Amino acid sequence: MSRSPIVVMKFGGTSVGDVARVRGVADIVARYRNEHPGVGVVVVLSAMAGETNRLVSLAKECVDRPSPRELDVLLATGEQVTIALLAMRLQQLGVQSKSLLAPQARISTDSRHTNAQIEQIDCTAVEEVIARGGVPVVAGFQGIAESGDITTLGRGGSDITAVALAAALRAETCFIYTDVPGVFSTDPRMCREAKLLERVSHEEMLEMASLGAKVLHTRSVYFAMRYSVPLVVLSTFEGPFRPGRNGTWIVSEEELMEKPVVTGVTHRLDEAQITIEALPDAIDAMARLFDALSERDVYIDMISQESVGGDVINVSLTVPDDQSIVALETIRALIPDLQANGVAVERDIAKVSVVGIGMRYHTGVAARGFRCLARENIDVQMINTSEIKLSVLVARKYCDAAVRALHAEFTGDLSAVESSNP
Ligand code: ADP
Ligand code: ASP
Ligand code: MG
Repeated sequence: MSRSPIVVMKFGGTSVGDVARVRGVADIVARYRNEHPGVGVVVVLSAMAGETNRLVSLAKECVDRPSPRELDVLLATGEQVTIALLAMRLQQLGVQSKSLLAPQARISTDSRHTNAQIEQIDCTAVEEVIARGGVPVVAGFQGIAESGDITTLGRGGSDITAVALAAALRAETCFIYTDVPGVFSTDPRMCREAKLLERVSHEEMLEMASLGAKVLHTRSVYFAMRYSVPLVVLSTFEGPFRPGRNGTWIVSEEELMEKPVVTGVTHRLDEAQITIEALPDAIDAMARLFDALSERDVYIDMISQESVGGDVINVSLTVPDDQSIVALETIRALIPDLQANGVAVERDIAKVSVVGIGMRYHTGVAARGFRCLARENIDVQMINTSEIKLSVLVARKYCDAAVRALHAEFTGDLSAVESSNP
């Protein structure tokens, strides 16, 4: 596919956290333009760090359940502030620039307020600014529905705007500037031993993002994979892109030189575990339970069942915490019919995962992971696996210890996994 001489640079909330930092971003953009004459630069921005949270709190202070449409109108203001500030700063540095809100940049989405999906981007307005030698500064995270309503793409959604725009423009590279020097083997703020990864495959990054590595939004990785967008994650504060020092390439699996068994360890704290107690063991009961939950659009992650004697089982499942009330209401309504004893919810849990495409070719990862957790006296409550990941549910108080132990275990001598099937 032929690419246009254009790069997209996305700066996250910390990178534009105050006016001094907005000026710093303007310097990076101006320098890049000077050093790469002939390359069009498109900037995508987040709101200032903490601003979207502040806006959500305002809405909650105002009403119990804000209308999603109005919430989107409110949340979209965060990005409006930063794009205007950056565009005016670039102008002062002698760089022509124009800020564009999502309707102006023609980023069309469906109408799922607060979690909208990008359907189409008409690049005309962005390309016009570039053609006149300017830098379009586009608001991340927002879109416009067919109705003309403002939408937002879900928290962390500016990454999606950047990669989708890079795909639509056939850009040479999409740079995601953030507050750490790239993608690490685990959250570098949690574990000092975390290693900067030079390259990560799309599939691993998709898993890592959806399992808690918030450095990239899952859907942005999906766009990069689907449209082959060359994607780099790097720090705003560590100087230019220098592979191995500042920056991680997200690449296709074929472009990886080595395929370590485990590439990353992640964690999530935003799931709740629901247990249906003493459910008479009938296939029909399980089907009714899961039908009812799917009718309410409850997303179920992990599932386990345990016999508690006779034909009676306890069924546990995990759901996103923000769906736990709906899930509980749905299950409670079924309890008399299903003749179960009751239902309990546990929120003090953490899901810790190890991810690596090498797991496809090696066995023994689970055994080694469980032995490692057992050595630390960490009790595993639930398990979930796929071809390239192993997730365990543990009590929240063990989250840090589990991440560190698994990270030390797997990013040490990887060849020590007992048996392998090349
Ligand atoms: P931005 O505001 O730039 O979008 P985010 O806060 O969304 O930044 O994402 C960057 C953060 O992601 C880092 O500060 C880091 O704590 C966290 N993070 C979690 N897991 C990882 C990982 N594996 N590699 C790098 N950063 C990670
Ligand atoms: N400002 C939005 C958020 O905080 C989008 C983003 O930062 O990517 O979720
Ligand atoms: Mg982010």
